[in-house]
Amino acid sequence: MSPVVDLVLPPAEAWQAQARAARISTADLLAHIGLIAADFAEGVIAQPDFPLSVPPHYLSLIRRGDPADPLLLQVLARGEEALPQPGRLTDPLEEADYRAAPGVLRKYRSRALLIASGACAIHCRYCFRRHTDYGAAMLTRSGEAEALAVISGDAAIDEVILSGGDPLSLTDARLTALVSAIAAIPHVTTLRLHSRTFLAIPDRVTPALVDLLACTRLTVVIVTHSNHEREISHDVAAALGRLRAAGVTLLNQSVLLAQVNDDATTIAAHCRRLFAAGVLPYYLHLTDPVDGAAHFDVDESRARGIETELRAALPGYLVPRIVREVPGETGKTPLWALPT
Ligand SMILES: *Cc1c(COP(=O)(O)O)cnc(C)c1O
Ligand code: SF4
Repeated sequence: MSPVVDLVLPPAEAWQAQARAARISTADLLAHIGLIAADFAEGVIAQPDFPLSVPPHYLSLIRRGDPADPLLLQVLARGEEALPQPGRLTDPLEEADYRAAPGVLRKYRSRALLIASGACAIHCRYCFRRHTDYGAAMLTRSGEAEALAVISGDAAIDEVILSGGDPLSLTDARLTALVSAIAAIPHVTTLRLHSRTFLAIPDRVTPALVDLLACTRLTVVIVTHSNHEREISHDVAAALGRLRAAGVTLLNQSVLLAQVNDDATTIAAHCRRLFAAGVLPYYLHLTDPVDGAAHFDVDESRARGIETELRAALPGYLVPRIVREVPGETGKTPLWALPT
């Protein structure tokens, strides 16, 4: 036997292969769904600065031959992104102001948010972090001690939120190490994960991940990020079921997006589908004024109309809180509290 065998790395997990396969070109995406650039009002961008990332499972859910498909519109770089968008910003939330240490955002007394990874499985065209320089913003291995010191040094922090990017871009080994370090801080009671990967790559819910979440002493809350009922496929629902069986509380946040989900019927159907999969709607965010995403904006008066219809259509526990991030405000501002 050759000694070289000992050096061979374990095979990448299925989800890692899917994450790699997600990097497709605009041309390949169009070819896959049987459309051409001229099917879109402003055409498409062949090589956008914020590259396309569409994992195979998500790709399989996109309807062929339909330029208005709500899943497609979230991942395809349309020409609108390149139109001049005066007044739009690259850091719309002024997050840099809340950096307590590299990779740590502290907007609230009781909660600290760790930018655990700069990578995402799926790239959402409306993302307010599309211009974020993760090199400066992200939690690095060398910065981890400093980040954990911020948390352990302040007993007011009882909840740690792993966000990103997407924290499920980390390997199970790295997540396990990070969660153990957080669980070792006595005053932290709750671990929250914000992730869109569950929809994009349901295979990311590995047995090791389920074990980790089931066995930590921390109370675990997962906030998924889904915007449309068709994203909750059979495989996604099964993956969410494994998390529920591990005792995890499941919530969902959505973004109110023009042409994707900006009517009460679509949102009500989504909320019911989430509930059937064991997930409660949490936030419905109004878009942030990020440069390149103005074509997703839904104005506040329209959002108010949608909220009224949702209250009539759904039980109160399935109506998401419609909120906007107002720079300088410590919390998310509910729609009803925004000036009219
Ligand atoms: C949204 C957010 C949180 C979590 O807020 P909740 O209202 O508890 O969901 C925490 N930190 C930052 C920086 C946030 O933007
Ligand atoms: S998964 Fe979240 S952070 Fe990543 S691109 Fe989409 S919206 Fe942005």
